[in-house]
Amino acid sequence: MQLSMTISTTSPFPSLSPHHPPPPPPTIERPNSKPRQTLRVSHHVGPPQALKGSGFLSAIGRAIEEEEYRKARAEVSRKGFDLEGYSIEGISIGGHETCVIVPELKTAFDIGRCPSRAVQQNFVFITHAHLDHIGGLPMYVATRALYNLKPPTIFVPPCIKEDVEKLFDIHRTMSQAELKFDLVALDIGETYEMRNNLVVRPFKTCHVIPSQGYVIYSVRKKLRKQYMHLKGKQIEKLKKSGVEITDTILSPEVAFTGDTTSDFLLDPRSADALRAKILITEATFLDEGYSIEHAREHGHTHLFELIEHAQWIRNKAILLTHFSSRYNIEDIRQAVSKLQLKVSAKVVALTEGFKSMHSS
Ligand SMILES: [Zn+2]
Ligand SMILES: [Zn+2]
Repeated sequence: MQLSMTISTTSPFPSLSPHHPPPPPPTIERPNSKPRQTLRVSHHVGPPQALKGSGFLSAIGRAIEEEEYRKARAEVSRKGFDLEGYSIEGISIGGHETCVIVPELKTAFDIGRCPSRAVQQNFVFITHAHLDHIGGLPMYVATRALYNLKPPTIFVPPCIKEDVEKLFDIHRTMSQAELKFDLVALDIGETYEMRNNLVVRPFKTCHVIPSQGYVIYSVRKKLRKQYMHLKGKQIEKLKKSGVEITDTILSPEVAFTGDTTSDFLLDPRSADALRAKILITEATFLDEGYSIEHAREHGHTHLFELIEHAQWIRNKAILLTHFSSRYNIEDIRQAVSKLQLKVSAKVVALTEGFKSMHSS
């Protein structure tokens, strides 16, 4: 309820300007951008007389180019990351599709256009109702049924639950299919037990429509301090007598923000997201081509803000997502390395679906 009250001050309809600024047509370069082939060409043009005059140097030039090409290819075909014991994969392109998968947790954060790897995941956590995050939901449910997988559990912000139900009712009528799933409206501050050693809690994010992030925690029991000196039999006896001898410890494992301004970085209620082993967040804009104000107006984060507030980031690994489709892999890699200088966490970028400057 708290969330919907906060948001109700804004219009219930999307603003006239699109929330995700549309990418320019592929043939048009953005203003002030450097030509895409700069790096590639530079191996041939400088210093020209040296390269032209020497077979040895041109061989080095070729080797460097081949190495660049190999790296670019590896980046393009990379399917995921091993981070802190989790193998994370997915696809996230701002305004187009976002779905980040953590197979160890049987979880997909947002569903995007429902990439095929998402179908195997039993849990889907929807951050907000923009189509690049929720559009594939009916396909996800229908494809699981096609493979005889059990009905999934889908978590949504409470304010969209009714509309999601209506959406599925329409699909049921149109396709005359059952489309079975459990829909859980999970509010900020509530806790849901996914299995006996795993719980999830939403946290507040700030976007142009109602939104929330999620933190998944591992749960373990720890013997209370006052009983630590006791021997096994004594502990057993206490336990049998009904005394609570353990504390429950929640450790934030993976946090996913979805689309948000950088405000969550400064909100004390996001503390668990910022100390989870892995933080998956967005950096829609990466360079001077777009201002921080522009990012904020559209409900997004600029990489410069992550750098500015890096001191609050206590995670062991950060996976950056949701880059604007204007960028290529090299732009992303170069920009992300700037954040790496500011945090001890390992910083990686989800670049599946992005083009390399070497790939066209
Ligand atoms: Zn988005
Ligand atoms: Zn959005």
